[in-house]
Amino acid sequence: MSNVFEYAPAPESRAVVDIKPSYGLFINGEFTDGRGTSFKTVNPATEEVLAEVAEASDTDVDEAVKAARRAYTRVWSRMSGAERAKYLYRIARIIQERGRELAVLESIDNGKPIKESRDVDVPIVAAHFFYYAGWADKLKYAGYGETPLGVAGQVIPWNFPLLMLAWKIAPALACGNTVVLKPAETTPLTALLFAEICQQADLPPGVVNIVTGAGDTGRAIVSHPDVDKVAFTGSTEVGKAIARAVAGSDKKVTLELGGKAANIVFDDAPLDQAVEGIVNGIFFNQGHVCCAGSRLLVQESVADEVMARLKRRMATLRVGDPLDKNTDVGAINSAEQLAKIRELSEIGEAEGAERWSAPCELPANGYWFAPTVFTGVSQAHRIAREEIFGPVLSVLTFRTPSEAVEKANNTPFGLSAGVWTDKGSRILSMANRLRAGVVWANTFNKFDPTSPFGGYKESGYGREGGRHGLEGYLKPITTGGDR
Ligand code: NAD
Repeated sequence: MSNVFEYAPAPESRAVVDIKPSYGLFINGEFTDGRGTSFKTVNPATEEVLAEVAEASDTDVDEAVKAARRAYTRVWSRMSGAERAKYLYRIARIIQERGRELAVLESIDNGKPIKESRDVDVPIVAAHFFYYAGWADKLKYAGYGETPLGVAGQVIPWNFPLLMLAWKIAPALACGNTVVLKPAETTPLTALLFAEICQQADLPPGVVNIVTGAGDTGRAIVSHPDVDKVAFTGSTEVGKAIARAVAGSDKKVTLELGGKAANIVFDDAPLDQAVEGIVNGIFFNQGHVCCAGSRLLVQESVADEVMARLKRRMATLRVGDPLDKNTDVGAINSAEQLAKIRELSEIGEAEGAERWSAPCELPANGYWFAPTVFTGVSQAHRIAREEIFGPVLSVLTFRTPSEAVEKANNTPFGLSAGVWTDKGSRILSMANRLRAGVVWANTFNKFDPTSPFGGYKESGYGREGGRHGLEGYLKPITTGGDR
């Protein structure tokens, strides 16, 4: 008998989800077929086609906006904040009740490990609805007025499909707006399940409309003349196009775009904890995280030690079936994204950085990329400047705090940063000098609905979450809103 343990997979059951062969659009409280074509959504871990999903045409988008306008004028903007809160609380509770179903579906459609969708995404989604439910009848204390904008057009990416939906829909509804939301084309299924939850919660028809499709559908939403507010999360490139498209209109806009965060490790940091933070910073959600700590800045005196511990830790990461409860790193979301990660990694090697990938066996089907680290990276390298949006870490070194700040800020982005040190005074001084919307100290990738999130520079403008997240959905007090 061998003493070697065979790995025993612990997959979560798929039986809890009911994936239909085809999905329509959710307009005015009902599922309709749509007038456009359709597209397939695929399980990135297996390449299995999950369902055929309607691609909303301009006419469909127009219908959704009309439904949202009707619901806004006749019902939602007239309802008291306390009444709106009841619906938001109800949605939050249903999300908790159906949490396992949502988590399994998210992992199947997106490729993220079940332990993340179950323990991170879904609980924060519910928390977001609870949190903004609490604000709905207290807007006058928030300091941003109490007058909603009207119809919000919201377009979200594929990396946190349900969480980005919650970040958009919960504050919009709490403030009295109605919404037309488009999920990303590779991850539409949990948004459509959320539409069912709206029905289950008896949300008045038209308050939430979900239209599926790709870039053209997104464009039709943001450029629709009867949309008062555009909320976009996605790439900087598309964000810039949207800013241009709405320039000159009186639409209010918030943009949550890309990032290239520095995770800065000083020589007095507790190194094992820092290594956990580095791993969490770049390999959480396969690195498909706008605020991922994709640039490790490590103080020269501990660089060799940190790298040795990091590689040892990376070698223990379990890459594979997203539904296995032990999986740490799941599938890359799409073939296109995998191609982008591969291309930029090859460029990194060609530019002279040294590549090391964790020795792990990758499944035969699906889209996979082994956790990878590049050392010997300089500021000029493209892997240090561009967002890779995958499980790829670039390592640079520094000698002094000033050099760390200079390198960290030497990027067109400004979304997040991490600081690892034993000294509280250094944490405060670094946080003041880093141009990033969020600075985590001795931790990374921590999210909470009470805390505002958003960027500087090419990472966008506006804040989501917290009291600040209400501002983007209310008429400014000084320009005709209430006092
Ligand atoms: P993307 O910009 O390609 O797509 C985002 C969404 O926009 C999708 O729903 C897409 O269909 C839609 N879209 C595409 N072209 C459009 C157009 N011309 N007009 C309107 N809508 C259009 O981004 P992605 O690849 O899905 O997501 C990854 C990006 O999102 C990364 O850059 C990441 O940093 C960013 N992101 C940012 C945050 C944040 O809070 N700052 C959060 C998550 C992701």
